[in-house]
Amino acid sequence: MNYFYVGIFKYPIQSLVYSYDGEIENGSRVFIDIRGRRHLGYVIEKAEKPEFDVKSILEVVDKTSYIDQKMMLLIKESAFKYMVPVGEVMDLCFPPFKFKGKSIKAEGAGKYVSLKVSLSELLKFKFTVEETKIVEFLLENGVGEYAYISRNFSKNAVKSLLDKGVLTLTNVSGQQIVNLTPVQRDVVMSILSNPSKPHLIHGITGSGKTEIYFDVADNVVKSGKKVLILVPEIILTPQLMVRTRKRFPNARVGMYHSALGSSRKIEWDEAVSGNLDILLGTRSAVWVPMKNIGLIVVDEEQDESYKQYAMRPYYNAVDVAKRRAEIEGSIFVLSSATPRIETYYRCMMGSYELHKVEERTVGEIPEITVVKTSGGIFSNLLISRIDQTIKKGNQVFLFVPKKGFASRVQCEDCGYIFKCPNCDVPMTYHKIDGTLKCHYCGHVEPLPVTCPICGSSKVRKGGIGTERVEHEIARLFPGARVKRMDREEIKDIESVESTLDGISKREYDIVVGTKMITKGLDFPSIGLVGVIDADHSLGMPDFRSNERTFQLLSQVSGRAGRGVRGEVVIQTMDPANPTIKAVEKQDYESFYLSEIERRRASGYPPFKELILITSENASQKEALENIERFKSLIANGPFEVLGPAESPIFKLMSKYRYQLLLKCDDIIAAVDYLSKVIRAETIGFDPANLKIDVGPYSF
Ligand code: ADP
Ligand code: ZN
Ligand code: ZN
Repeated sequence: MNYFYVGIFKYPIQSLVYSYDGEIENGSRVFIDIRGRRHLGYVIEKAEKPEFDVKSILEVVDKTSYIDQKMMLLIKESAFKYMVPVGEVMDLCFPPFKFKGKSIKAEGAGKYVSLKVSLSELLKFKFTVEETKIVEFLLENGVGEYAYISRNFSKNAVKSLLDKGVLTLTNVSGQQIVNLTPVQRDVVMSILSNPSKPHLIHGITGSGKTEIYFDVADNVVKSGKKVLILVPEIILTPQLMVRTRKRFPNARVGMYHSALGSSRKIEWDEAVSGNLDILLGTRSAVWVPMKNIGLIVVDEEQDESYKQYAMRPYYNAVDVAKRRAEIEGSIFVLSSATPRIETYYRCMMGSYELHKVEERTVGEIPEITVVKTSGGIFSNLLISRIDQTIKKGNQVFLFVPKKGFASRVQCEDCGYIFKCPNCDVPMTYHKIDGTLKCHYCGHVEPLPVTCPICGSSKVRKGGIGTERVEHEIARLFPGARVKRMDREEIKDIESVESTLDGISKREYDIVVGTKMITKGLDFPSIGLVGVIDADHSLGMPDFRSNERTFQLLSQVSGRAGRGVRGEVVIQTMDPANPTIKAVEKQDYESFYLSEIERRRASGYPPFKELILITSENASQKEALENIERFKSLIANGPFEVLGPAESPIFKLMSKYRYQLLLKCDDIIAAVDYLSKVIRAETIGFDPANLKIDVGPYSF
């Protein structure tokens, strides 16, 4: 009889021991009995025969494990670092479990099919079940190989869809291989000649970064190895998918992200059985256990969707990707127009290699104008620019902040945003008791009557809401065709596509949108981008607020001038703010230099690593007691403890939330200490009420 540690989702950090009369490879999926119920688990490793009686493994799912030793190492390290059971990380490595999925061997590259009709037209058709599956697949993937689709769905259904004119055969061969510029070629060469060092390609949007990593990928594929490309946003993947397939007409390209339906398992199967050369995916794709990876690319490495924050484990896919590349011995390439301060710092310290690409290959760099406002919605300058742009027949993007939960306090005269004296992060205003609060250390002060910088008494609370902007736009430009684009208006992938379609067909003159409009959307006729309230993101209660503002404003600005001569107008109460200045000059370096010093002085990443511990409870008293109790337990830990403070969203889904912020010199030592405390504290301690986020992105 053999004994195995079996990890399962959401169970204690220690794995359970089960017996089995036979060998099982590490990483294999098995079924076990837990309190009379069948559960999927993962064999972590062999165990000694325990003192107590153990149950037997019910069934072995994977005769040969998909998880090799390298992957297992990554999984174990991640489980340790993010303080979750190994089984919980294992879960990420497999698609949602469905049995009897036949293993599909796809055919070589060939003809492709894509949808020919628009979404609204699609609704007019009546489809069979098989046809619907194909249409859904193509809505998700943009394009699919003819042979692949006929094989995985139904050949007859493909034929009938082609006959009905719903599908079209697409020729994606060889059309989109560009000749690299000398600058691009140099970058490719230096990446290939230094494969063991992480690389950052830094250049504005449109400077040819994608073509650079495509070329590196091409070299890697030709050497017989696989490529993993991580991209941030789901709405972008169909576009990028088509582009990638056109760039690699002879390679097999797959796509993987958690929002995929039935095709997710198929793509996973293809990837792990070595049938794909290139896997393109969002954050969850970093866990696909494909072998022989020669290159991992993270596009838009600054994007926050790489951090899983809504559910455990709260991992950061960029960090996981980097570690995976190290373990696998693959080339690791990050790409960004506005890298994270942490990443750029590593370049400056020499542990990453920095490649700058300055030229913009399409369009011209837009002209940026910063206007001082004292809190109104539209400056005269912005109004006249909107008017001119529409009259020229070009489109306007107006960027408005998302309705915020946190409201800043700001001086109308000099633009100063009130910050915590201890933590150097913006404080938020609390209407109920008229106070300003710091969500890091818990500091509270009464609402000041004068500005500490210029002495003005014009102290303003709060910002500008989306509705007011829309309302005002309609009043000022009654004839304009306006489209709102935010999460409330645009809920699903279909409405995204149809809106984007409408924008490219110039059905709208003015698009009013939140962050959503900033992500890589590429429309040639955007003549003007207006930023209504640039201070909104500067005032968020977060040490990254400057970085987010720089990234956001740079991205928003990048939307202008792709085809026509572009212009950007940024409204702020503080035009002298170093972040705003850096945006105005489009100078990442100067932003980096001011921000890195601030981070050093106040002890934030990359100089200290953070761990955020949140206590949640329906009873406010208990939430506070729990966090205070935990704080006393970790008093001797290798970190500085800030708080407890109210979380910026103090009450969420009828639970009160308090938080502690740990500043650590050594994250591994800190995590090790916390794990030991939690393990020792079994009586009267409910870890379910505590959320531990290592390397938090949102507070
Ligand atoms: P980025 O990734 O920096 O935004 P891309 O690589 O997407 O930039 O390049 C922007 C556009 O310019 C794309 O349409 C791309 O095909 C094109 N492009 C990039 N490099 C070249 C080149 N050397 N020759 C011709 N077109 C290029
Ligand atoms: Zn002031
Ligand atoms: Zn503070």
